Amino acid sequence: MAPHRSRLSSAGRLAEFPLIEDLAGRFGATGRSVLVGIGDDAAILRPPSGDLFLLTTDLLAEGVHFDLTTATFEAIGYKAAVANLSDIAAMGGIPRYLLVSLAIPSGHTQAEIRRLYRGMMSAGLPHRVELIGGDTSSSRQGLFINLTLAGTAKPDHILTRSGARIGDLLYVTGTLGDSLAGLQLLTGAHGKPVRADAGLSKETRRYLVERHLRPTPRLAVGQLLAKHRLATSAIDLSDGLSGDLTHICAQSRVGAEVDMLTLPLSPACLDYAEAHRKSPFELALAGGEDYELLITVSPKHKTQVERLARSFDCRLSRIGRIQPPQRGLTVIGPDGSSHKLTITSYRHFDATSSV
Ligand code: ADP
Ligand code: MG
Repeated sequence: MAPHRSRLSSAGRLAEFPLIEDLAGRFGATGRSVLVGIGDDAAILRPPSGDLFLLTTDLLAEGVHFDLTTATFEAIGYKAAVANLSDIAAMGGIPRYLLVSLAIPSGHTQAEIRRLYRGMMSAGLPHRVELIGGDTSSSRQGLFINLTLAGTAKPDHILTRSGARIGDLLYVTGTLGDSLAGLQLLTGAHGKPVRADAGLSKETRRYLVERHLRPTPRLAVGQLLAKHRLATSAIDLSDGLSGDLTHICAQSRVGAEVDMLTLPLSPACLDYAEAHRKSPFELALAGGEDYELLITVSPKHKTQVERLARSFDCRLSRIGRIQPPQRGLTVIGPDGSSHKLTITSYRHFDATSSV
């Protein structure tokens, strides 16, 4: 769209149309279901017949979601794509078409934007995601990145947040808290820089930072659970277990109980918690951006889901159960006592800090 003033090319370093042409040439290759990709006023798609579309979008703002002084363009692109891929995973869908809109402040180069796309496509290409368009603008303040991802799914193979029933078992993939520990290693907890000699091995630090920078969207797990109709509800853990579980409970009109001692923790997260005198369970409850899947399963499918989980490329841990709504959200602590679950995960427009 033509702006009133301020052109993207005003700095003379980045020009809108050469940039789009460059990105289209490098990343815009598409397959047969894309009749028209980048280049026209709109993309034209022919999705597999009978499939439904799943659409998800994410807006990332510099200074809120990422910081160019600590993250590379590749890492930002990768994580932006994973946030969307993970949403499609949580619905049990197959990710397919990507639209990318950018507002770019002056001073950035085409090479930097290319690196952003390289990161996005390194997350998307293994799942055969196709870049089909976007929009490009200048920005007066900060870089904005908006991704819209379309996925497809068979009508009876879709997972939602709203199907959890009282008595269902609560499961989570992978391990929790790693990403938050990795973030704190990168930036320092509560703004205080972390000492390099915090008693952690290089491997531990590298693992946690990698889990923060390159999380894995659990697409195969979501698709398998959806196909075998083994989950009554699902959500991906983008904000943190405590907050995301609240979403499932609100949408399904139920309560839930989490058994803290069963939360899956990596050896690295345990080491980190010990070195920094933090509770690893609190890290697991609060930590955002793990991009694991939280699912509910009817007790009658317990054996089947646990058998299926052996074919996953990650752990699947039972961490609690769904309760009547009047019981609310509770957590059983390491000492066996039951407490109300407080939401410690990230919330926008909220001044309180997390763990
Ligand atoms: P319009 O003015 O109609 O919005 P544009 O000139 O913005 O058209 O876009 C031309 C083509 O380039 C369209 O196919 C659009 O989807 C694509 N496009 C624009 N910006 C981007 C971007 N940042 N990434 C990928 N594709 C883009
Ligand atoms: Mg446009």
